[in-house]
Amino acid sequence: VTAARAPRAWILATGSELTRGETRDANGPFLAAELTVLGIGVERIALLPDEPAVLARAIAEAQAAADVVLVSGGLGPTADDHTVRVVAEVFGRPVRRHPEAERRMRERVLRRVASESEIPENYWKQSEVVEGAEVLLNPVGLAPGMLLDTARGVLVVLPGVPRELEAMFSELAAPRLLARLGARFALEAPRIFRAKILGHPESWAEARIQALGIDFARVEYGISARPGELLVKFIAHRAPDHAYVDQVRSLLEREFAADILVLPEGLGARENDLEHSRLVHEALLASGLTVAAAESCTAGLIAKRLTDHAGSSASFLGGVAAYADRVKEAVLGVPPALIREHGAVSEAVCAAMARGARRLFGADLAVATTGVAGPGGGSPEKPVGLVYVALAAPPGAGGGEETVEVERHRFWGDRRNVRALAALRALELLRRAAVSATARAAAGAAAAGRRARGPGNG
Ligand code: ATP
Repeated sequence: VTAARAPRAWILATGSELTRGETRDANGPFLAAELTVLGIGVERIALLPDEPAVLARAIAEAQAAADVVLVSGGLGPTADDHTVRVVAEVFGRPVRRHPEAERRMRERVLRRVASESEIPENYWKQSEVVEGAEVLLNPVGLAPGMLLDTARGVLVVLPGVPRELEAMFSELAAPRLLARLGARFALEAPRIFRAKILGHPESWAEARIQALGIDFARVEYGISARPGELLVKFIAHRAPDHAYVDQVRSLLEREFAADILVLPEGLGARENDLEHSRLVHEALLASGLTVAAAESCTAGLIAKRLTDHAGSSASFLGGVAAYADRVKEAVLGVPPALIREHGAVSEAVCAAMARGARRLFGADLAVATTGVAGPGGGSPEKPVGLVYVALAAPPGAGGGEETVEVERHRFWGDRRNVRALAALRALELLRRAAVSATARAAAGAAAAGRRARGPGNG
């Protein structure tokens, strides 16, 4: 009988280093994200010590409660590796050495030792499997994993080393899991929409999202915050709701306009943590544009973020931490009269800084920041959190002057947060400029292609 529901999973990560708090569990989050993308809901992630009795109880409970049980760790050669024996006991089956796993282990170890007699007996423990299990030969390590049918669904045993677990899950376990579950459950890959909302506190953004009239029965919704950056996620689990995601998207885009950054769909399961600066970096590389920065209140933060990613030398030329007025004048060529008249924290000075950096470094794009990061230095006219962010860009296709846009922001929070938000905004201006330059170049190339083919030639 086909159950018309999605399968539910429990994940059991074993290892006393986890329950003692020495190692942070990497396998639970990895597997949970992968299962979600496959359309398998995760009900529980548990950490268990290397104690056979605890393990046996947990596995017995899990297989009675969940359709899919994933166990990680405890497949190694040492005395604290119990998983195979415990699973065998829970299933009432014997343990066997797997000939192919044994052969691979022999081959590997004989490169290091002269004869088989030197191999300690416990080494072979890593070739043990439960009789009747489907064996998953380790693509990167030695200990094989296993797939076993349970009354409700499937139990999967995977190695503990995250690199091994990830390779084995993705290459071997996931396709087999889907094949086995497909006959018994409604398995649909959900449509997952992710976007970053930049520069809004979580509670404000949340209130505005709640007011949009989104039907949360059709899409699962989540929001998580990092300084200045929110990740919102909408998951349409059922195929009939997939198209609804487009409506949600346009509601959000209308609401957050310039402050929303829609992430490409179909990213890997774990790309939740995709940093904004990486998106900026990739957009700049794709555009082929070069970049410079003139930073007063951020004093190097923008330069740091731009160079956090390998390959940034193709786009980032350099920056000036122009903290003192004298540096703004001497290095960036900001006219002293401008600073006297408007003050260093002003639209005019910010624009002049961006122009100056563009000229100084010979860059295509330059960003500038000047503001009051606090906690001191604020005034009624120029309060703490006031930051100007400017972008200088080449003249448009029609020629003429370089363009400079300046934004005035009132950021919140402490000094650290104000600076982080200022840098984030500057990076976002760069990203947008790079994305539109890439789009213009693509449109230009397409038009040139049409002209080259000419009428009647294509
Ligand atoms: P192998 O047989 O390949 O050695 P194993 O199944 O024996 O792997 P464990 O002995 O449980 O795995 O763990 C090996 C190492 O992998 C641990 O020392 C730990 O550093 C790491 N590890 C295990 N489980 C996790 C986890 N859930 N998250 C992060 N690291 C883990």
